[in-house]
Amino acid sequence: MDKSALFKLGYGLYVLIGREGEKDTGCIVNTVMQAGDNPTTLSVAVNKLNYTHDVIKKTGEFNVSTLTTSTDFEIFKNFGFQSGKDINKFAKYNQLKRSKNGLLYLTENVNGYLSGKVVETIDFGSHTMFKAELTDCKVFSDEESLTYAYYHKNIKPKPEENKEDKKGWRCKICGYIHEDENLPDDFVCPWCKHGASDFEKI
Ligand code: FE
Repeated sequence: MDKSALFKLGYGLYVLIGREGEKDTGCIVNTVMQAGDNPTTLSVAVNKLNYTHDVIKKTGEFNVSTLTTSTDFEIFKNFGFQSGKDINKFAKYNQLKRSKNGLLYLTENVNGYLSGKVVETIDFGSHTMFKAELTDCKVFSDEESLTYAYYHKNIKPKPEENKEDKKGWRCKICGYIHEDENLPDDFVCPWCKHGASDFEKI
């Protein structure tokens, strides 16, 4: 079984945002879809290791900021490669606004946002899938939405640009390098939370 077939699936890339009390947080996801109509429902699957996952599970509300092809790697480093448990991921963004539900959304490098209210959660082991009703949304521009394929081709730094002469295992998703001869089967990338099957030997 060649699991690289999974890379043939098409995905978008989004900043998923939650808020608990006075604390805003967000993470990068590639799993937002319109799942039903009348009422309009969204589905989004989030890795349980993400703090944003816990916040949405608790509060039942989220915003999705839809990234565009003008997005740079900094956004992925900021929202994808560190935990909102430890830091305020929005500290360096001043172009932020709040939607009707009180949650933040981005206004730069995005072409819109969607607000969802969770009506059901489904356990997928590593991930929880939230089924949500669309409660609010807005379009900012017709700029092209970012896809996972575009990110890999044009935004993620190329391995040869990594000048450090490191040996070990490299995450094919985000470029993180695990400097060890061995990679345990249950290894999880500390940056993007992908598993050992997404690492290559370098
Ligand atoms: Fe990674």
